[in-house]
Amino acid sequence: MDFIPVNEPLLNGNEKKYLCECIDTGWISAEGPFVKKFEQRMSETVDRKYGIAVSNGTAALEVAAMAIGIEAGDEIIMPSFTIISCAMAVTKLGAVPVLVDSDLHTWNMNVNEIEAKITNKTKAIMIVHLYGLPVEIDAVLELAQKYNLKVIEDAAEMHGQTYKGRPCGSFGDISTFSFYPNKHITTGEGGMVVTDDEKLAERCRMLRNLCFRKDVRYVHDEISDNYRFTNLQAAVGLAQLERLDEFIERKREMGRYYTEKLRDVKGLILPVEKTDYADNIYWVYGLVLDESIQCDNQTVQKLLAEKGIGSRTFFWCMHEQPVYKNAGLFSKEIYVNAEYLARKGFYIPSGLALTKEQMDKVIVTLRDIMEKVIV
Ligand SMILES: *Cc1c(COP(=O)(O)O)cnc(C)c1O
Repeated sequence: MDFIPVNEPLLNGNEKKYLCECIDTGWISAEGPFVKKFEQRMSETVDRKYGIAVSNGTAALEVAAMAIGIEAGDEIIMPSFTIISCAMAVTKLGAVPVLVDSDLHTWNMNVNEIEAKITNKTKAIMIVHLYGLPVEIDAVLELAQKYNLKVIEDAAEMHGQTYKGRPCGSFGDISTFSFYPNKHITTGEGGMVVTDDEKLAERCRMLRNLCFRKDVRYVHDEISDNYRFTNLQAAVGLAQLERLDEFIERKREMGRYYTEKLRDVKGLILPVEKTDYADNIYWVYGLVLDESIQCDNQTVQKLLAEKGIGSRTFFWCMHEQPVYKNAGLFSKEIYVNAEYLARKGFYIPSGLALTKEQMDKVIVTLRDIMEKVIV
């Protein structure tokens, strides 16, 4: 039985050619020419002036948080239901994530809860677009303006998505991307910070590279880390980016196909196809068990695995993370929608290399399993 992995990237464009160029020319480090090309091409794609490539999406969030000046004691508003990278970028600086619940319809942060969480310590709002639909960005930008807050946009899952026709990654003070293999564009590991602010961009470049002083190397006024991105990664990224439109088209086709074939399956909540500001890009094809189903996501996923089908649970809430609980954060906080999504949500194979035959197998198997668990 051939196992169908939850994600397999598509690397059959110019990736090999550009990688060979790196090797033939000897340019493999962060100093190589593909890095600047990739930064330029990516920032253009998302309508930003500057792009600073870093080692991964988590690093991009860390660099962005440091660059906009988040400090100990600051409060940053973000969803509880997200990846820990968002909270970590903030807690590493001694600042505090202040959480909001999710919207069960879009699975994104509920922007209507933000204003009540703003205090005189609030420094920024972190927008995190999840699974394929953007956050209601205008509502966030209005609040940011009203209360003079910074906005970080985590667009790790949104290459090629738009909000009211404008690219995700172009909103707020600074935006971040990831190029992990399950993202629309991959470089193996990788990330990027994008911004329109020249000073912020300059600061990100410093932070990416150990904060070397500009005039004298090996002398430091500040500490950051080594977040550099190699020419090898950029070579792959550039080849991937050449095909972004095609990849997004393919993701949307896959999403539509799954939806068409799973629409009548009882017990499953499917991803929303569109809102009035965006069409779903189906970063991954997520599913949520509805209230008629007693079991949790992992029970269904185990049954899928037994039939040779990979899947992955949704994120686990920040307010339920042992590491933060043990540190005394978020005690007694409850976010019912976020908790529901974390326990009932999972995603099925939806990587770019997935074939129609594989999708058909996933569909048939999942239908079968849902009939069993619905009792
Ligand atoms: C993948 C992802 C990240 C982290 O990116 P890495 O490259 O894995 O560090 C951050 N935020 C979101 C929303 C993501 O999906």
